[in-house]
Amino acid sequence: MAQPLYYYSTNLKAASVSFGEALLKGLAPDKGLFMPESIPVLSWEEIAGFSEMKYHEIACTIIKKFIGGQVPDNIIRSLSKDAYNFPVPLEHVYDNIYVLRLDQGPTASFKDFAARMMGRLMQYFINIEHRELLILTATSGDTGSAIANAFYGLDDIRVVVLFPQDEVTDRQRKQMTTLNGNITSISIDGKFDDCQALVKQAFSDPDLDYLNLSSANSINIGRLVPQIVYYFYAFAQLRKRTPDETVIFSVPSGNFGDMMGGLLAKKMGLPIEKFIIATNENDEFSSFMKTDKYSKIEPSKNCLSSAMNVGHPSNLARVVALYAGVMDEKGVIVKSPDMDAMRNDMYVVSINDSETKATIVKAFNDYKLLLEPHGAVGWAGFQKYLYDRDGNTADQLCISLETAHPSKFSETIKEILDFDPDLSQSLEGIENKIESYVRMQNNYIDFKSFLKKSY
Ligand SMILES: *Cc1c(COP(=O)(O)O)cnc(C)c1O
Repeated sequence: MAQPLYYYSTNLKAASVSFGEALLKGLAPDKGLFMPESIPVLSWEEIAGFSEMKYHEIACTIIKKFIGGQVPDNIIRSLSKDAYNFPVPLEHVYDNIYVLRLDQGPTASFKDFAARMMGRLMQYFINIEHRELLILTATSGDTGSAIANAFYGLDDIRVVVLFPQDEVTDRQRKQMTTLNGNITSISIDGKFDDCQALVKQAFSDPDLDYLNLSSANSINIGRLVPQIVYYFYAFAQLRKRTPDETVIFSVPSGNFGDMMGGLLAKKMGLPIEKFIIATNENDEFSSFMKTDKYSKIEPSKNCLSSAMNVGHPSNLARVVALYAGVMDEKGVIVKSPDMDAMRNDMYVVSINDSETKATIVKAFNDYKLLLEPHGAVGWAGFQKYLYDRDGNTADQLCISLETAHPSKFSETIKEILDFDPDLSQSLEGIENKIESYVRMQNNYIDFKSFLKKSY
Protein backbone atom coordinates (compact mmCIF):
# COMPACT_ATOMS: atom_id res chain seq x y z
CA MET A 1 0.00 0.00 0.00
CA ALA A 2 1.24 3.50 -0.83
CA GLN A 3 2.34 5.97 1.82
CA PRO A 4 -0.31 8.46 2.93
CA LEU A 5 0.27 11.88 1.37
CA TYR A 6 -1.39 15.13 2.39
CA TYR A 7 -1.87 18.39 0.58
CA TYR A 8 -1.21 21.80 2.14
CA SER A 9 -2.48 25.16 0.94
CA THR A 10 0.03 27.59 -0.59
CA ASN A 11 -1.52 30.31 1.61
CA LEU A 12 -0.52 28.23 4.66
CA LYS A 13 -3.74 29.14 6.53
CA ALA A 14 -5.86 26.04 5.92
CA ALA A 15 -5.52 22.51 7.28
CA SER A 16 -3.90 19.85 5.08
CA VAL A 17 -6.25 17.44 3.31
CA SER A 18 -6.14 14.11 1.50
CA PHE A 19 -5.83 13.84 -2.28
CA GLY A 20 -9.54 13.06 -2.66
CA GLU A 21 -10.56 16.14 -0.71
CA ALA A 22 -8.16 18.39 -2.61
CA LEU A 23 -9.50 16.95 -5.86
CA LEU A 24 -13.15 17.63 -5.07
CA LYS A 25 -12.55 21.01 -3.44
CA GLY A 26 -10.28 22.45 -6.13
CA LEU A 27 -9.29 25.52 -4.14
CA ALA A 28 -8.28 25.44 -0.45
CA PRO A 29 -10.63 27.26 2.01
CA ASP A 30 -8.00 30.02 2.46
CA LYS A 31 -8.02 30.50 -1.36
CA GLY A 32 -4.58 28.92 -1.70
CA LEU A 33 -3.65 26.08 -4.05
CA PHE A 34 -3.10 22.54 -2.86
CA MET A 35 0.47 21.20 -2.96
CA PRO A 36 1.78 17.81 -1.84
CA GLU A 37 3.51 17.96 1.57
CA SER A 38 6.30 15.85 0.19
CA ILE A 39 7.24 15.01 -3.38
CA PRO A 40 7.79 11.33 -4.12
CA VAL A 41 11.25 10.60 -5.49
CA LEU A 42 11.83 7.78 -7.97
CA SER A 43 14.94 5.69 -8.11
CA TRP A 44 17.00 5.71 -11.30
CA GLU A 45 16.06 2.04 -11.87
CA GLU A 46 12.38 2.96 -11.77
CA ILE A 47 12.84 5.86 -14.21
CA ALA A 48 14.95 3.73 -16.55
CA GLY A 49 12.35 0.98 -16.33
CA PHE A 50 9.79 3.30 -17.94
CA SER A 51 11.54 2.66 -21.25
CA GLU A 52 9.89 -0.76 -21.29
CA MET A 53 6.42 0.51 -20.34
CA LYS A 54 3.38 1.80 -22.18
CA TYR A 55 2.12 5.33 -21.57
CA HIS A 56 -0.80 4.27 -19.41
CA GLU A 57 1.43 2.05 -17.28
CA ILE A 58 3.78 4.95 -16.55
CA ALA A 59 0.75 7.12 -15.81
CA CYS A 60 -0.50 4.57 -13.29
CA THR A 61 2.91 4.31 -11.57
CA ILE A 62 3.27 8.08 -11.20
CA ILE A 63 -0.31 9.05 -10.36
CA LYS A 64 -0.48 6.32 -7.72
CA LYS A 65 2.31 8.01 -5.78
CA PHE A 66 0.24 11.19 -5.41
CA ILE A 67 -3.01 9.55 -4.34
CA GLY A 68 -1.55 8.41 -1.05
CA GLY A 69 -3.25 5.01 -0.93
CA GLN A 70 -6.81 6.33 -1.31
CA VAL A 71 -7.60 4.41 -4.51
CA PRO A 72 -6.78 0.70 -4.97
CA ASP A 73 -3.91 0.09 -7.42
CA ASN A 74 -5.99 -2.01 -9.80
CA ILE A 75 -8.51 0.80 -10.14
CA ILE A 76 -5.81 3.39 -10.89
CA ARG A 77 -4.49 1.00 -13.47
CA SER A 78 -7.81 0.59 -15.22
CA LEU A 79 -8.63 4.32 -15.08
CA SER A 80 -5.24 5.09 -16.66
CA LYS A 81 -5.72 2.51 -19.37
CA ASP A 82 -9.12 3.90 -20.17
CA ALA A 83 -7.96 7.56 -20.11
CA TYR A 84 -4.83 7.11 -22.23
CA ASN A 85 -6.09 5.21 -25.22
CA PHE A 86 -4.50 7.49 -27.86
CA PRO A 87 -0.96 7.80 -29.27
CA VAL A 88 1.68 10.19 -27.85
CA PRO A 89 4.05 10.73 -30.81
CA LEU A 90 7.60 12.06 -30.66
CA GLU A 91 8.52 13.67 -33.96
CA HIS A 92 12.20 13.78 -34.80
CA VAL A 93 13.27 17.21 -36.12
CA TYR A 94 17.08 17.24 -36.36
CA ASP A 95 20.11 16.11 -34.30
CA ASN A 96 18.76 14.91 -30.99
CA ILE A 97 15.84 17.31 -31.08
CA TYR A 98 12.21 16.25 -30.99
CA VAL A 99 8.69 17.62 -30.78
CA LEU A 100 6.36 15.86 -28.37
CA ARG A 101 2.89 15.96 -29.89
CA LEU A 102 0.33 16.11 -27.11
CA ASP A 103 -2.45 16.68 -29.60
CA GLN A 104 -3.86 13.23 -30.32
CA GLY A 105 -6.51 13.11 -27.61
CA PRO A 106 -10.24 13.42 -28.29
CA THR A 107 -10.23 17.23 -28.35
CA ALA A 108 -6.78 17.62 -29.94
CA SER A 109 -5.14 19.66 -27.19
CA PHE A 110 -2.84 18.62 -24.35
CA LYS A 111 -5.64 19.46 -21.91
CA ASP A 112 -7.06 16.00 -22.67
CA PHE A 113 -4.22 14.41 -20.66
CA ALA A 114 -5.31 16.18 -17.50
CA ALA A 115 -9.06 16.33 -18.01
CA ARG A 116 -9.54 12.66 -18.78
CA MET A 117 -7.79 11.46 -15.64
CA MET A 118 -9.33 14.12 -13.43
CA GLY A 119 -12.85 13.23 -14.58
CA ARG A 120 -12.35 9.56 -13.86
CA LEU A 121 -10.80 10.19 -10.44
CA MET A 122 -13.57 12.59 -9.47
CA GLN A 123 -16.16 10.03 -10.40
CA TYR A 124 -14.42 7.41 -8.27
CA PHE A 125 -14.39 9.67 -5.21
CA ILE A 126 -17.99 10.89 -5.49
CA ASN A 127 -19.22 7.33 -5.99
CA ILE A 128 -17.72 6.12 -2.74
CA GLU A 129 -19.19 9.12 -0.96
CA HIS A 130 -22.56 8.75 -2.74
CA ARG A 131 -22.42 12.35 -3.81
CA GLU A 132 -23.31 14.24 -6.92
CA LEU A 133 -21.27 17.00 -8.43
CA LEU A 134 -21.95 20.02 -10.58
CA ILE A 135 -18.85 21.27 -12.35
CA LEU A 136 -18.80 24.89 -13.44
CA THR A 137 -16.07 25.93 -15.76
CA ALA A 138 -15.20 28.99 -17.82
CA THR A 139 -13.16 28.52 -20.96
CA SER A 140 -11.39 30.42 -23.69
CA GLY A 141 -11.72 27.30 -25.86
CA ASP A 142 -9.48 24.35 -25.11
CA THR A 143 -10.27 23.70 -21.45
CA GLY A 144 -14.02 23.68 -22.01
CA SER A 145 -13.85 21.20 -24.85
CA ALA A 146 -11.42 18.91 -23.00
CA ILE A 147 -13.52 18.98 -19.82
CA ALA A 148 -16.81 18.51 -21.66
CA ASN A 149 -15.41 15.57 -23.56
CA ALA A 150 -13.72 14.00 -20.54
CA PHE A 151 -16.82 14.23 -18.33
CA TYR A 152 -19.35 13.36 -20.99
CA GLY A 153 -21.42 10.37 -19.92
CA LEU A 154 -19.99 10.10 -16.38
CA ASP A 155 -22.71 9.22 -13.85
CA ASP A 156 -23.64 11.69 -11.12
CA ILE A 157 -21.52 14.50 -12.57
CA ARG A 158 -23.00 17.35 -14.54
CA VAL A 159 -20.99 20.01 -16.28
CA VAL A 160 -21.81 23.59 -17.20
CA VAL A 161 -19.29 25.27 -19.53
CA LEU A 162 -19.33 29.04 -20.08
CA PHE A 163 -17.59 30.37 -23.14
CA PRO A 164 -17.31 33.85 -24.68
CA GLN A 165 -19.56 34.00 -27.75
CA ASP A 166 -17.06 35.63 -30.09
CA GLU A 167 -13.73 34.42 -28.72
CA VAL A 168 -13.78 30.69 -29.49
CA THR A 169 -13.19 29.16 -32.92
CA ASP A 170 -16.03 27.29 -34.65
CA ARG A 171 -14.32 23.98 -34.06
CA GLN A 172 -13.71 24.70 -30.39
CA ARG A 173 -17.37 25.65 -29.91
CA LYS A 174 -18.64 22.57 -31.69
CA GLN A 175 -16.51 20.35 -29.49
CA MET A 176 -18.53 21.65 -26.52
CA THR A 177 -21.99 22.16 -27.97
CA THR A 178 -22.53 18.90 -29.85
CA LEU A 179 -22.27 16.54 -26.88
CA ASN A 180 -25.43 17.28 -24.84
CA GLY A 181 -26.26 14.59 -22.22
CA ASN A 182 -24.76 15.71 -18.90
CA ILE A 183 -22.98 18.65 -20.56
CA THR A 184 -24.59 22.09 -20.82
CA SER A 185 -22.84 24.84 -22.76
CA ILE A 186 -23.63 28.50 -22.28
CA SER A 187 -22.38 31.19 -24.60
CA ILE A 188 -21.91 34.50 -22.83
CA ASP A 189 -22.17 37.76 -24.66
CA GLY A 190 -18.84 38.94 -23.26
CA LYS A 191 -15.18 38.08 -22.85
CA PHE A 192 -13.42 35.15 -21.24
CA ASP A 193 -12.85 37.25 -18.11
CA ASP A 194 -16.63 37.82 -17.85
CA CYS A 195 -17.24 34.05 -17.98
CA GLN A 196 -14.62 33.55 -15.30
CA ALA A 197 -16.22 36.24 -13.12
CA LEU A 198 -19.69 34.63 -13.39
CA VAL A 199 -18.25 31.27 -12.32
CA LYS A 200 -16.38 32.84 -9.40
CA GLN A 201 -19.49 34.64 -8.20
CA ALA A 202 -21.52 31.42 -8.31
CA PHE A 203 -18.86 29.70 -6.18
CA SER A 204 -19.10 32.31 -3.46
CA ASP A 205 -22.92 32.53 -3.51
CA PRO A 206 -24.42 30.81 -0.40
CA ASP A 207 -27.77 30.38 -2.23
CA LEU A 208 -26.03 27.88 -4.49
CA ASP A 209 -24.33 25.84 -1.75
CA TYR A 210 -26.92 23.10 -2.25
CA LEU A 211 -25.51 22.44 -5.74
CA ASN A 212 -22.19 21.08 -4.48
CA LEU A 213 -20.29 23.12 -7.04
CA SER A 214 -16.84 22.07 -8.06
CA SER A 215 -14.35 23.50 -10.49
CA ALA A 216 -12.28 21.84 -13.14
CA ASN A 217 -9.94 24.70 -13.87
CA SER A 218 -6.22 24.45 -14.15
CA ILE A 219 -5.57 24.89 -10.44
CA ASN A 220 -7.15 21.55 -9.55
CA ILE A 221 -4.53 19.11 -8.27
CA GLY A 222 -6.29 16.42 -10.30
CA ARG A 223 -5.27 18.25 -13.45
CA LEU A 224 -1.74 18.89 -12.35
CA VAL A 225 -0.63 15.35 -11.45
CA PRO A 226 -1.39 13.75 -14.85
CA GLN A 227 0.75 16.46 -16.48
CA ILE A 228 3.86 15.02 -14.82
CA VAL A 229 3.60 11.79 -16.76
CA TYR A 230 4.50 12.80 -20.32
CA TYR A 231 7.84 14.25 -19.24
CA PHE A 232 8.87 10.84 -17.92
CA TYR A 233 7.38 9.10 -20.93
CA ALA A 234 9.21 11.26 -23.48
CA PHE A 235 12.56 10.86 -21.73
CA ALA A 236 12.06 7.10 -21.39
CA GLN A 237 11.31 6.77 -25.10
CA LEU A 238 14.34 8.75 -26.27
CA ARG A 239 17.07 8.24 -23.70
CA LYS A 240 20.41 7.14 -25.09
CA ARG A 241 21.25 4.92 -22.14
CA THR A 242 24.52 6.75 -21.52
CA PRO A 243 25.73 7.72 -18.04
CA ASP A 244 24.76 11.22 -16.88
CA GLU A 245 22.27 11.76 -19.69
CA THR A 246 19.95 14.73 -19.33
CA VAL A 247 17.08 16.32 -21.23
CA ILE A 248 15.93 19.86 -21.98
CA PHE A 249 12.20 20.58 -22.34
CA SER A 250 10.60 23.60 -23.93
CA VAL A 251 7.10 24.34 -22.63
CA PRO A 252 4.72 26.88 -24.20
CA SER A 253 3.03 28.36 -21.15
CA GLY A 254 -0.03 30.30 -20.03
CA ASN A 255 -1.39 29.31 -16.63
CA PHE A 256 1.77 27.28 -15.88
CA GLY A 257 -0.02 23.99 -15.23
CA ASP A 258 1.97 22.23 -17.91
CA MET A 259 5.29 23.57 -16.65
CA MET A 260 4.37 22.74 -13.02
CA GLY A 261 4.00 19.14 -14.15
CA GLY A 262 7.53 19.35 -15.54
CA LEU A 263 8.97 21.00 -12.43
CA LEU A 264 7.46 18.24 -10.31
CA ALA A 265 8.94 15.61 -12.64
CA LYS A 266 12.36 17.17 -12.08
CA LYS A 267 11.90 17.12 -8.30
CA MET A 268 10.91 13.47 -8.60
CA GLY A 269 14.27 12.67 -10.10
CA LEU A 270 13.91 13.05 -13.87
CA PRO A 271 17.29 14.43 -15.08
CA ILE A 272 16.00 17.65 -16.62
CA GLU A 273 18.87 20.02 -17.27
CA LYS A 274 16.76 23.01 -18.16
CA PHE A 275 13.23 24.13 -18.87
CA ILE A 276 12.64 26.67 -21.57
CA ILE A 277 9.49 28.44 -20.45
CA ALA A 278 8.08 30.26 -23.45
CA THR A 279 5.16 32.66 -23.14
CA ASN A 280 3.55 34.94 -25.69
CA GLU A 281 3.55 38.73 -25.22
CA ASN A 282 2.13 38.29 -21.74
CA ASP A 283 5.62 38.50 -20.26
CA GLU A 284 4.90 38.97 -16.55
CA PHE A 285 6.96 35.92 -15.64
CA SER A 286 10.03 36.79 -17.68
CA SER A 287 9.95 40.29 -16.14
CA PHE A 288 9.72 38.72 -12.70
CA MET A 289 12.77 36.56 -13.42
CA LYS A 290 14.71 39.59 -14.64
CA THR A 291 13.73 42.10 -11.98
CA ASP A 292 12.72 39.98 -8.96
CA LYS A 293 9.52 42.06 -8.89
CA TYR A 294 6.20 40.58 -9.87
CA SER A 295 3.29 42.44 -11.39
CA LYS A 296 0.34 41.06 -13.32
CA ILE A 297 -0.61 42.22 -16.78
CA GLU A 298 -4.16 43.56 -16.64
CA PRO A 299 -5.99 43.09 -18.91
CA SER A 300 -3.99 40.32 -20.54
CA LYS A 301 -2.78 40.87 -24.11
CA ASN A 302 -4.51 39.13 -27.00
CA CYS A 303 -2.04 37.04 -28.99
CA LEU A 304 -2.30 34.33 -31.64
CA SER A 305 -1.64 31.64 -29.06
CA SER A 306 -5.01 32.39 -27.49
CA ALA A 307 -4.93 29.66 -24.82
CA MET A 308 -1.85 31.38 -23.36
CA ASN A 309 -3.31 34.89 -23.08
CA VAL A 310 -2.76 34.99 -19.35
CA GLY A 311 -1.61 38.07 -17.45
CA HIS A 312 -1.44 36.33 -14.06
CA PRO A 313 -0.79 32.59 -14.28
CA SER A 314 -3.09 30.71 -11.93
CA ASN A 315 -0.42 28.15 -11.03
CA LEU A 316 2.27 30.70 -10.24
CA ALA A 317 1.66 30.39 -6.48
CA ARG A 318 2.64 26.73 -6.83
CA VAL A 319 5.84 27.54 -8.70
CA VAL A 320 6.73 30.04 -5.97
CA ALA A 321 5.92 27.45 -3.28
CA LEU A 322 8.14 24.88 -4.98
CA TYR A 323 11.03 27.33 -4.61
CA ALA A 324 10.29 28.00 -0.93
CA GLY A 325 8.37 31.27 -1.35
CA VAL A 326 4.78 32.30 -0.69
CA MET A 327 2.47 34.11 -3.13
CA ASP A 328 -1.05 34.92 -1.96
CA GLU A 329 -4.28 34.64 -3.96
CA LYS A 330 -4.00 38.24 -5.13
CA GLY A 331 -0.56 37.65 -6.64
CA VAL A 332 1.36 39.39 -3.86
CA ILE A 333 4.72 37.83 -2.97
CA VAL A 334 4.53 37.34 0.79
CA LYS A 335 7.86 35.54 0.98
CA SER A 336 10.38 35.67 -1.81
CA PRO A 337 11.23 32.36 -3.51
CA ASP A 338 14.80 31.31 -4.25
CA MET A 339 15.14 33.33 -7.46
CA ASP A 340 18.62 32.04 -8.26
CA ALA A 341 17.43 28.45 -8.13
CA MET A 342 14.51 29.37 -10.38
CA ARG A 343 16.82 31.06 -12.87
CA ASN A 344 19.08 28.06 -12.79
CA ASP A 345 16.26 25.65 -13.66
CA MET A 346 14.37 27.82 -16.13
CA TYR A 347 15.20 29.92 -19.14
CA VAL A 348 12.18 32.18 -19.51
CA VAL A 349 11.43 33.90 -22.78
CA SER A 350 8.57 35.92 -24.26
CA ILE A 351 7.75 35.50 -27.97
CA ASN A 352 5.70 38.07 -29.85
CA ASP A 353 3.14 37.38 -32.57
CA SER A 354 5.40 38.23 -35.48
CA GLU A 355 8.08 35.88 -34.14
CA THR A 356 5.39 33.23 -33.73
CA LYS A 357 4.32 33.58 -37.35
CA ALA A 358 7.92 33.62 -38.61
CA THR A 359 8.60 30.46 -36.59
CA ILE A 360 5.65 28.64 -38.15
CA VAL A 361 7.03 29.48 -41.60
CA LYS A 362 10.65 28.65 -40.80
CA ALA A 363 9.93 25.36 -39.02
CA PHE A 364 7.85 24.24 -41.95
CA ASN A 365 10.31 25.34 -44.62
CA ASP A 366 13.42 24.04 -42.86
CA TYR A 367 12.16 20.79 -41.40
CA LYS A 368 8.61 20.15 -42.66
CA LEU A 369 7.66 20.64 -39.03
CA LEU A 370 4.05 21.79 -38.83
CA LEU A 371 3.36 23.81 -35.68
CA GLU A 372 0.31 25.77 -34.54
CA PRO A 373 0.76 29.06 -32.64
CA HIS A 374 1.19 27.56 -29.14
CA GLY A 375 3.74 24.95 -30.19
CA ALA A 376 5.47 27.64 -32.28
CA VAL A 377 5.96 29.79 -29.18
CA GLY A 378 7.64 26.80 -27.50
CA TRP A 379 9.81 26.09 -30.53
CA ALA A 380 10.79 29.75 -30.93
CA GLY A 381 11.77 29.91 -27.24
CA PHE A 382 13.88 26.82 -27.69
CA GLN A 383 15.65 28.26 -30.76
CA LYS A 384 16.43 31.43 -28.79
CA TYR A 385 17.90 29.35 -26.02
CA LEU A 386 20.16 27.50 -28.46
CA TYR A 387 21.28 30.78 -29.97
CA ASP A 388 22.01 32.19 -26.52
CA ARG A 389 24.14 29.27 -25.52
CA ASP A 390 25.89 29.11 -28.92
CA GLY A 391 24.08 26.25 -30.58
CA ASN A 392 26.01 23.01 -30.43
CA THR A 393 23.51 20.55 -29.08
CA ALA A 394 24.23 17.62 -31.33
CA ASP A 395 24.32 15.26 -28.37
CA GLN A 396 21.92 16.99 -26.04
CA LEU A 397 18.41 15.52 -26.00
CA CYS A 398 15.90 18.37 -26.39
CA ILE A 399 12.12 18.04 -26.52
CA SER A 400 9.76 20.86 -27.43
CA LEU A 401 6.08 20.41 -26.56
CA GLU A 402 3.32 20.87 -29.15
CA THR A 403 0.14 21.40 -27.15
CA ALA A 404 -2.58 21.48 -29.82
CA HIS A 405 -3.25 20.02 -33.23
CA PRO A 406 -2.62 22.44 -36.12
CA SER A 407 -6.12 21.77 -37.48
CA LYS A 408 -7.58 23.31 -34.33
CA PHE A 409 -6.10 26.60 -35.54
CA SER A 410 -6.58 26.06 -39.25
CA GLU A 411 -7.59 29.70 -39.94
CA THR A 412 -4.21 30.91 -38.64
CA ILE A 413 -2.22 28.20 -40.42
CA LYS A 414 -4.01 28.88 -43.68
CA GLU A 415 -3.21 32.56 -43.40
CA ILE A 416 0.47 31.94 -42.65
CA LEU A 417 1.32 28.87 -44.75
CA ASP A 418 -1.42 29.13 -47.33
CA PHE A 419 -2.77 25.61 -46.94
CA ASP A 420 -5.28 23.88 -44.72
CA PRO A 421 -3.67 21.43 -42.27
CA ASP A 422 -5.03 17.88 -42.35
CA LEU A 423 -7.87 17.49 -39.96
CA SER A 424 -7.03 15.75 -36.70
CA GLN A 425 -8.80 12.40 -36.55
CA SER A 426 -10.65 13.50 -33.45
CA LEU A 427 -12.13 16.50 -35.25
CA GLU A 428 -13.49 14.53 -38.19
CA GLY A 429 -17.21 14.75 -38.66
CA ILE A 430 -17.63 17.58 -36.18
CA GLU A 431 -18.83 20.03 -38.83
CA ASN A 432 -22.01 18.06 -39.37
CA LYS A 433 -23.01 17.49 -35.77
CA ILE A 434 -26.01 19.35 -34.36
CA GLU A 435 -25.17 22.08 -31.87
CA SER A 436 -27.21 23.01 -28.86
CA TYR A 437 -26.34 25.68 -26.34
CA VAL A 438 -27.87 28.43 -24.23
CA ARG A 439 -27.15 32.05 -25.09
CA MET A 440 -26.97 34.47 -22.22
CA GLN A 441 -26.13 38.10 -21.52
CA ASN A 442 -23.21 38.80 -19.22
CA ASN A 443 -25.47 39.05 -16.19
CA TYR A 444 -25.13 37.15 -12.90
CA ILE A 445 -28.85 37.27 -12.02
CA ASP A 446 -29.71 35.44 -15.25
CA PHE A 447 -26.94 32.90 -14.76
CA LYS A 448 -27.97 32.21 -11.19
CA SER A 449 -31.63 31.74 -12.02
CA PHE A 450 -30.66 29.41 -14.85
CA LEU A 451 -28.66 27.26 -12.42
CA LYS A 452 -31.47 27.23 -9.82
CA LYS A 453 -34.06 26.34 -12.41
CA SER A 454 -31.98 23.63 -14.08
CA TYR A 455 -30.37 21.83 -11.14
C1 LIG B 1 -3.90 25.65 -22.10
C2 LIG B 1 -2.96 25.61 -23.22
C3 LIG B 1 -1.61 26.01 -23.08
C4 LIG B 1 -1.05 26.56 -21.80
O1 LIG B 1 -0.94 25.60 -20.78
P1 LIG B 1 -0.77 26.07 -19.27
O2 LIG B 1 -0.77 24.83 -18.47
O3 LIG B 1 -1.96 26.95 -18.98
O4 LIG B 1 0.50 26.83 -19.18
C5 LIG B 1 -0.77 25.90 -24.17
N1 LIG B 1 -1.23 25.46 -25.35
C6 LIG B 1 -2.51 25.09 -25.53
C7 LIG B 1 -2.95 24.63 -26.88
C8 LIG B 1 -3.42 25.14 -24.48
O5 LIG B 1 -4.70 24.78 -24.68
